[in-house]
Amino acid sequence: MQPILPRNALRADDAPRVELAPFALRALRILEDAGYEAWVVGGFVRDALLGRPGEDVDVASSATWREAQRAFEARGVRTHETGTAHGTLTAVVDGHAVEVTTYRADGSYADDARHPRKVTFVRSIEEDLARRDFTVNALAFHPDRGLIDPHGGRADLEAGVLRAVGDPARRFSEDALRILRACRLSAQLGFRIEDKTFSGMMANKGLLLRISAERVARELERMLVGPFAGDVLLSCADVLAAVMPELVAMKGFEQRTPYHVHDVLAHTACVIDATPPYPLVRWAALFHDMGKPATFFTDEEGVGHFYGHAALSETMARGAMARLKLPSAFAGKVLQLVRRHDDDLLPTPKSVRKTLLSLEGDLELFGALCDLKRGDAMGQAPRCRGRVDEVNAVETVLGEVLSSDAAFTLGQLAIDGKEVLALGVGPGPLVGEALRAALGAVIDDEVANERDALLAFTRRWLEERRRATVAKS
Ligand code: ATP
Ligand code: MG
Repeated sequence: MQPILPRNALRADDAPRVELAPFALRALRILEDAGYEAWVVGGFVRDALLGRPGEDVDVASSATWREAQRAFEARGVRTHETGTAHGTLTAVVDGHAVEVTTYRADGSYADDARHPRKVTFVRSIEEDLARRDFTVNALAFHPDRGLIDPHGGRADLEAGVLRAVGDPARRFSEDALRILRACRLSAQLGFRIEDKTFSGMMANKGLLLRISAERVARELERMLVGPFAGDVLLSCADVLAAVMPELVAMKGFEQRTPYHVHDVLAHTACVIDATPPYPLVRWAALFHDMGKPATFFTDEEGVGHFYGHAALSETMARGAMARLKLPSAFAGKVLQLVRRHDDDLLPTPKSVRKTLLSLEGDLELFGALCDLKRGDAMGQAPRCRGRVDEVNAVETVLGEVLSSDAAFTLGQLAIDGKEVLALGVGPGPLVGEALRAALGAVIDDEVANERDALLAFTRRWLEERRRATVAKS
C-alpha cells in the first residue's frame, strides 16, 4: 500500500511533545524502511498528551499482518500472532511488546458469536481512526509527521470529556464492550462522559449481555481500581446495572441510621475510593453492603438495621462473581472479606492471632481486611472515623505478633499430623480438627507450644470428642 499523507496532521512543532521510547521508534522505523506507513495510536498517545506516558505501545500500519511480520523478522525482531484474522501482530522489540494492527475500518472486538463481524482493511490512518471508540483514543502520532486528530480528541483531552467517535448509539450498538470501556476510561482518567455518548450507552446497555463474562469482568476490574471509580459507580450505575443488577436496589437506598450519612450506593462508592487501588479489596468494597437493602428493617424508633447483611452480601457476591467467571481462588478471598467486613477486630495479640488462624495465616488477606475496614469507616458518618484508628492499632499488634514467634499457623505448632495419627486417630478430617483445636488453645494461652504439653492436650481433646460422640449416639 502507498503511504498517504494525512490532511490535518499538526506539524511536529505545533503538537505537544509525545516522547517515544527507542523501542517504539525502532518499531516505526522497521515498518517504514520496508515501505509501509506506521503511526503510534490510541491509549499511548492519549496518555502521553496527558503527561503520563504508559508502557503499552500500539502501532497502526498500512502493512498487512504478513507484511509486518516479514519486515520485523527480516530485522531479527520476533513476532507473535495475536489476531491474524483482525490483522494484529505483536512484535517484541528490544524486549518490549508492540501491538501492530493493520489499518482497518471495522473493529472485530465484540465476541458476539451469532453475528461475527467482518474486518475491512482500509488504506489510510484516518479511516482507521474513524473506527476507534472515543475521540481521545482516535489520535495518531509520528515523530516526523506529528499528530493527527480528526475528531477533536485533543480538545476533549483538555476539557476532560469522553466522547464517542461518530454517532454514539451506532458505535455502541456495533460493539457493546465500548460501553464498559467508557466507564473504565472515565474511572481511570476522571473524564466526564459527554451527554449524547452517555445516552448511547444507556440505549445499548442491553447488548452487554452478549459480551463474554471475562471481558466484562476485565473492564469492571480496571474500572474499580481506577482513581475515580467511586464517581463512575454513581454516575454510571444505571448503565452498569446491565452487568451488575444488584446495584439497582443499592441506588438511593437510605440507611436511616446514625452511623451513615449516605445511601447504600454512595457509601459503597466512598468505601471504594477510600481503599487502596488493588483488585481484591476493591471488589470486596463493591460487594460488602450489597445485602443491605434486602435485610433492612426499622425499629420502633424508626432507626434502620441490617442484621445478617454481611452474610447476604456474601451470597450475592458469590453469584455475581460466578456470573463474571472470576477465578475461584480469587473469588474465595473476596468472599472472606465480604463476610467478615463487619466483624470486630481487637488490637490484642490474642484477637489478631485468632483472626490470622481463621484466615489460614494469609497475611495478604489480613491486610486487605484491614484496608476494607478502614475504607468502610471512612465511608460512614464522621462520628465513625475513630474506627480507622482501631484498625491501625490492629496492624501495629499484627507487626508485633509477626516479629515474635507466637504461633498462628498449624505449621508453627510443635506437633504435626503424624503425631496426631500416632495417638490412634485414623486418617481423615479429625486430624486437622485436632491440630486446629491445639493451636486455638495455644493462642488462648491454655497450653504451651511444646511437644509434650500439646500431645497431652490433644489426647484429652480426642478423649472428650470420643465421649461426646458416644453420648450423642
Ligand atoms: P489501555 O491500553 O490503557 O487499556 P487503550 O486505550 O490503549 O488503553 P487498548 O485496549 O490497548 O486500550 O486499545 C488500543 C486502542 O484501540 C484504543 O485506544 C482505541 O483507539 C482502540 N480500541 C480498543 N478497543 C476498541 C473498541 N472496542 N472499539 C473501538 N476502538 C477500540
Ligand atoms: Mg493500549
